Amino acid sequence: MSDNKVALITGASRGIGKACALELARRGCDIAVNYHSNTEQAEKTVAEIEALGRKAVAYQADTADLSAVKQMFRAAVKDFGKLDILVNNAGVVDDAYLLLIREDSLSRSLDINIKGYFHCAQQAALKMLSKKQGVIINISSVSSVLAVEGQSVYSATKGAVNSMTAVMAKELAPKGIRVNAVAPGFIATEMLDSIPDDLRQQYLKTIPMKRFGSADEIARTVCALCSDDFSYLTGQTIILDGGLSL
Ligand code: NAP
Repeated sequence: MSDNKVALITGASRGIGKACALELARRGCDIAVNYHSNTEQAEKTVAEIEALGRKAVAYQADTADLSAVKQMFRAAVKDFGKLDILVNNAGVVDDAYLLLIREDSLSRSLDINIKGYFHCAQQAALKMLSKKQGVIINISSVSSVLAVEGQSVYSATKGAVNSMTAVMAKELAPKGIRVNAVAPGFIATEMLDSIPDDLRQQYLKTIPMKRFGSADEIARTVCALCSDDFSYLTGQTIILDGGLSL
């Protein structure tokens, strides 16, 4: 990764987003840390990035809210002077069997996992266009290609992420902006903790590598895809799942 790039990462107060923020900082990036409600955790991420010798600022914004997203991107570009990388990571899961899906939960999942990604990609592309370069990584899920009972809403939102990645990549390639998706399998974060233990143990048995992935493993792949080592890769969804989807 060339030095002094600026990355905005949504949902960087914890989990995969935080791991991406720290790994990008280790590789020489300054980081705009987006979060939704957990100010203390976001400030902790900022402090950990600063301890690595990089600049970091936390921005509270609900990615489902377009005006909040616009304000965040304006503030970030004012604070950092530019934007080179967006990691669209903020997402929610609220599993329910089809007959039990609640309207409010359905709307919130669609708003954050799909509309939020569009909001941020659009604002990032607008900031990247003038320099004719940039990288957008959309965090998807293995659930986009694997039917897991109770996850019809989540799967649909992550399938949408894979599709939007391909189309955004095609539209933005002539503008020098690459767009790829990373689809993690089961990764040890608070999101995984929300699954009941007996179900987690069942899932574990189905993973050929017989372990959950770590947020750091996802972060290292995200960083690699952001680097010039992958300068000809665009529109792809990379599945990182220990073999689960095979
Ligand atoms: P997590 O530990 O639950 O963290 C979620 C992060 O997203 C937090 O930083 C949270 O901010 C933020 N967030 C949630 N809603 C937001 C909103 N409306 N606006 C802004 N930020 C918001 O999740 P994770 O496990 O790291 O997952 C991150 C991404 O990876 C998600 O897209 C998820 O679907 C995907 N993924 C995860 C797994 C897994 O096994 N963990 C597997 C496949 C894909 P606050 O702290 O402020 O609430």
